Amino acid sequence: RIVDINAINNIEIEDELSLRPERLSQYIGQHKIKENLDVFIQAAKLRNESLDHVLLYGPPGLGKTTLANIIAHEMDVNIRITSGPSIERPGDLAAILSSLNAGDVLFIDEIHRLSRVVEEVLYPAMEDFCLDIVVGKGEEARSIRIDLPPFTLVGATTRAGSLSAPLRDRFGVHLRLDYYEINDLSHIVMRTADVFDVVIDAQSVHEIALRSRGTPRIANRLLRRVRDFAQVKNDGHIDIATTTHALDLLQVDQYGLDHIDHKILNAIIERYNGGPVGLETIAVSIGEERITLEDVYEPYLIQKGLLERTARGRVATVRAYEHLNVPYDNEKRK
Ligand code: ADP
Repeated sequence: RIVDINAINNIEIEDELSLRPERLSQYIGQHKIKENLDVFIQAAKLRNESLDHVLLYGPPGLGKTTLANIIAHEMDVNIRITSGPSIERPGDLAAILSSLNAGDVLFIDEIHRLSRVVEEVLYPAMEDFCLDIVVGKGEEARSIRIDLPPFTLVGATTRAGSLSAPLRDRFGVHLRLDYYEINDLSHIVMRTADVFDVVIDAQSVHEIALRSRGTPRIANRLLRRVRDFAQVKNDGHIDIATTTHALDLLQVDQYGLDHIDHKILNAIIERYNGGPVGLETIAVSIGEERITLEDVYEPYLIQKGLLERTARGRVATVRAYEHLNVPYDNEKRK
């Protein structure tokens, strides 16, 4: 048997699939979203219609793909999964759309990365369930309309702001996912432990939840790593000592910050005197992509009150100084 270099990652991807709840009632947290979706799904089913198009936005790992799958499952239809960057030409999207069955869910991840020309195919498809196709060339060219079966587009994006207005407006339902509360994350960790069939005590569950930066995907990943440590060092028994030891080695702190969060805050504090400093400058100085900082790191740091966005750039808050144990010198910052 040839073992793929990515075998370990593949196992984790398969794990991720098996960890996905299938029903809305099994989806933990995000109560408002669940309540809304539940009503919209029931109403669409009562009317025997397809569900209105749904736009999901929020940082990665919060459960957007999971929700898209749940929507399809609850509506009793098939789901087709693709992503913005992988649809290169208008024809690619036209082919996907015309292969859908009535009521199907089309999930487009990273929908903000669709090109303009591809996006234009979506407008009539979303609005009137049809495709406008140009046949012939030059003077012979004419546009024909092809009807599509009704379908539900579920779009996911980390940045609702980069969606063009015409596309955004064609979604009837807009749902914003927030970082999860510790309680919800604890539930997710317990559920995953159950799926993995491992025994874990309440204290360890809490510790993992605390350190997973409000994100289910991270909670599941940390549990996997802790399980590894427990297996090798503690006969598979997950207790608080093993958990803290593993999490410390993984460099995630009790705020859920990882080493990149630390690099960001340290750069602002040590190199730029606490800010304000532009995001681009921070990105260059720590060797990360600006877009990653903006989509993944910054929202959590802001939510935790460690970072502020001002007109002149990013500023580390007093709380950030305290968290990193750096004295906050008021005079210096005047
Ligand atoms: P996104 O599409 O937003 O990046 P995913 O839907 O892929 O996130 O979720 C990442 C992982 O977290 C999934 O494997 C899923 O098992 C888990 N997960 C996300 N949200 C929930 C939730 N509300 N309840 C239980 N597990 C969740």
